[in-house]
Amino acid sequence: MKIHEYQGKEIFRRYQIPVPAGKAAFSVEEALKVAPEVSKGPWVVKAQIHAGGRGKGGGVKVAKAVDELKAAVTKIFGMTLVTHQTGPEGKVVKRLLIEEGADIAAEYYLALTLDRAASKITIIASQAGGMDIEEVAAKEPQKIFKESIDPAVGLRDYQCRALTAKMGFTGTAAKQFPDILKKLYKVYWECDCSLAEINPLVLTKQGSLIALDAKINFDENAVFRHLSYNEMIDPNEEDPAEQNAKKFDLSYISLDGNIGCMVNGAGLAMGTMDIIKLEGGDPANFLDVGGGATESKVKEAFKIILQDEKVKAILVNIFGGIMKCDVIAAGIVGAARELKMTVPLVVRLEGTNVEAGKRILADSGLAIIPATGMKEAAQKVVQAARGGR
Ligand code: GDP
Ligand code: MN
Repeated sequence: MKIHEYQGKEIFRRYQIPVPAGKAAFSVEEALKVAPEVSKGPWVVKAQIHAGGRGKGGGVKVAKAVDELKAAVTKIFGMTLVTHQTGPEGKVVKRLLIEEGADIAAEYYLALTLDRAASKITIIASQAGGMDIEEVAAKEPQKIFKESIDPAVGLRDYQCRALTAKMGFTGTAAKQFPDILKKLYKVYWECDCSLAEINPLVLTKQGSLIALDAKINFDENAVFRHLSYNEMIDPNEEDPAEQNAKKFDLSYISLDGNIGCMVNGAGLAMGTMDIIKLEGGDPANFLDVGGGATESKVKEAFKIILQDEKVKAILVNIFGGIMKCDVIAAGIVGAARELKMTVPLVVRLEGTNVEAGKRILADSGLAIIPATGMKEAAQKVVQAARGGR
């Protein structure tokens, strides 16, 4: 689960990680109203979207005087911000963060994330922070320091000292850095994060460290432990189809292709996506209807797939184990009739009650393309998608 920078900074404040004074605003008027409460200037106007690279995309502007502030606020609020993380369609900016401007001497990078392969939390730190960290990682990996934290032991003092030395901090910053690192670890641990990133962590001209940006992702599997996270959801950032799927307890992820997939079981769903790719097609979604789906759940799943304008053909690939093929078939027929489905539909059923299921499909009078194996099913759906809606 992603949250906005201003929400991340609220959490940092709670854990006493230094951040600039700032306030969120949901309109141009509100932004101009809160600005004097934040600072006498200069200000920084920051677009709040769930994507990085805002600086380069024109979503972060420093304003020295009130007229510049007005210009920046009106420009950024409501703009369609395109960054390397939003995709070409961009994101409309509906929230701003107005901050006190900082005097930057140097920009650093500090993050904690999960190293799945090592089953450990990893500290990632670099002297080359700021907007081009991806490039640093690709071209000069030696400039990035990593340190593993054993979750059973936690972050140790010697690790903090070692990193402080590698980062080259002296004076006040050398005292602050290990403290910020420990607090960030506390945030990561207590808030069940999958990412806690400060980029840039800034050394000000006054010589102290401050978190100028905050990017926090929560581990979806732990969100249920934190009721307050519900309030941090921004509906503007959610995929409507994914939200809808959640309501019906369907595992649905929308993708860029044009072949809708309805499958039971995550493994089979991934296998189905792979074989579609292998046959030269592109899945429009990942959808696992689960092991014990009912007829109505199948119907809802179909509705979600069909609401996606990109979908040119659908592949239903079901292995009836606990799930019964006749239940699936009834759901498909019901949904197809109700929604007056016009996209070609390829169905491959196997397992419990398969004969009854096939009979329901055959007797329905619907133009369903049957397939027996996965390869055949994939070939047929790829061909159907090429033929168009
Ligand atoms: P991102 O591009 O989405 O990661 O947004 P950031 O919050 O990291 O801001 C991008 C860049 O804007 C930073 O790397 C800074 O160089 C600059 N910036 C942000 N806040 C300030 C500030 O208070 N003063 C100055 N001078 N620059 C800032
Ligand atoms: Mn940043």
